[in-house]
Amino acid sequence: MDYPSKKSFTSKPPQSPLSLEAILDIFFPRSCIECSGPVEDSHYRYICKHCAESLILAHPPNCKTCGYPYFADKILSKNCPHCAELKPSYSRGYTVCLAKKVGRKLVHNLKYNNGLYLSHDLKSILEQLPHLRKICQDAVLVPVPLHPTKFRERGFNQSKVFAQVLQKTLNANIQIADILIRTRFTESQTTLSRGRRKQNIRNAFALSPNIKLDFEKKYILIDDVFTTGSTANACAKVLKKAGIPTIELITFGHG
Ligand SMILES: [Zn+2]
Ligand SMILES: [Zn+2]
Repeated sequence: MDYPSKKSFTSKPPQSPLSLEAILDIFFPRSCIECSGPVEDSHYRYICKHCAESLILAHPPNCKTCGYPYFADKILSKNCPHCAELKPSYSRGYTVCLAKKVGRKLVHNLKYNNGLYLSHDLKSILEQLPHLRKICQDAVLVPVPLHPTKFRERGFNQSKVFAQVLQKTLNANIQIADILIRTRFTESQTTLSRGRRKQNIRNAFALSPNIKLDFEKKYILIDDVFTTGSTANACAKVLKKAGIPTIELITFGHG
């Protein structure tokens, strides 16, 4: 019997389908989200080498409330000036990066363009912040909900997208639970003052009906951006009232 030679096995490599990354490249040509230049020799897929230098990650030590990174010469108190007046109903807040320059673009893409196509870069960023794995170990992540009208308009909840990236990247036995609902349609917070934001968001959230809470677990609120902390705090109040003993917060950007 003639056996096929080794060559005949190897000369025709199996046709491999296009990788997901190659397909994504067709729909989202790879240019830098900040400067629109080509992305070459970069650690990231959508941030060029030059713009990557302007990305400020929130390495510890950080402000206890908002996660703002203290730079070596500025360790003055546990709270930074941004949130000196905030009395949070959660015990610790963390953030991933400052929402400046390319960080702002990341937040914007997460919010308006469904940042899933950036998940490779979000993963690379999270890998540079190993303390987040410990924080999220065995925790329940609670994305800050959108009002149903907003959700229909946008088609996705950016905080949930971020929660899913955390779950996928950190490999820390994370659960995601949509246990909060938005009960009021609130004005966009972006143009409001600090006082108006607080008022605007008050009583805007509630526990969704028929949910089961596990009081042994740590619950971590997940939001896309930390501005004054009023949204996260309004959510934390609902969880606290429900009797959850440990509530923390992770935002993607600090703006
Ligand atoms: Zn660039
Ligand atoms: Zn702070």
